Amino acid sequence: MAIFLVLLGPPGVGKGTQAERLAEESGLPHVSSGDLFREAIKAQTPLGREAQTYIDRGELVPDKVTIAMVAERLNKPDCAEGAILDGFPRTIEQAKALDDVLAQRNASVTLVPYISSATETLLQRLGGRWTCRDCQAVYHVLWNPPSEPGKCDVCGGELYQRPDDTPETHRKRIEVYLEQTAPLIEYYRQRGLLVEINGEADIEGVYADLLAAVRHIGDKKPASSEEPCYA
Ligand code: ADP
Ligand code: ADP
Ligand code: ZN
Repeated sequence: MAIFLVLLGPPGVGKGTQAERLAEESGLPHVSSGDLFREAIKAQTPLGREAQTYIDRGELVPDKVTIAMVAERLNKPDCAEGAILDGFPRTIEQAKALDDVLAQRNASVTLVPYISSATETLLQRLGGRWTCRDCQAVYHVLWNPPSEPGKCDVCGGELYQRPDDTPETHRKRIEVYLEQTAPLIEYYRQRGLLVEINGEADIEGVYADLLAAVRHIGDKKPASSEEPCYA
């Protein structure tokens, strides 16, 4: 049975950071809607041009295009065993669409780790975030600095501050999160899929909690050698 994890939480809480680590350890692909949009913007595709206007304002890209983009990604062969979703779904409509896409292949959302922290923490994290232009790896000036300033440890690419990483867009994005994305907490809680994770801990601490939550997945199902390994 394929495993689909949905990392839920406000902007800056560390979803991308954690998804990246978990992807490496589990072998499941990290599917980030924000990264997909940024790739489309870089490639100057029509989708990228449409998305940019919303992203620059800190608003959500409309559901229709977002859903189509992520559905296409999830139908690629590397997602056959599942995926770690980061930044999607962000609205109830997107969550329902995800349920439909997965149902079509006899799968469903496996678990929703919900990482939360105080707004002040989010602003401090977003304010010090540097992103790799080439591979989208994220760093923090204080809490996760690259070995060499301005250079990505993973691929050697140039680090930059995202144009939507400004104090004004940060506030706006947190507002949008509270209005449009926070209702997903109840959506998934009611389905028995939510596990709460304290996002105030350091990167290692959050990862330890996340791994502990993910390890319980196997408890509900018979062991199978085909399952990805989270050792
Ligand atoms: P999200 O994907 O939820 O927006 P990111 O993974 O991009 O969050 O993290 C936002 C910023 O905070 C990055 O600069 C990252 O290095 C940093 N960060 C992530 N998790 C932690 C943590 N637990 N403690 C301190 N800094 C963190
Ligand atoms: P962060 O890591 O700071 O939470 P993301 O990289 O996930 O930000 O997203 C950046 C921007 O891309 C969002 O502010 C929004 O404009 C757009 N975006 C990303 N994912 C979605 C989504 N699921 N629905 C609508 N817009 C999205
Ligand atoms: Zn890189």
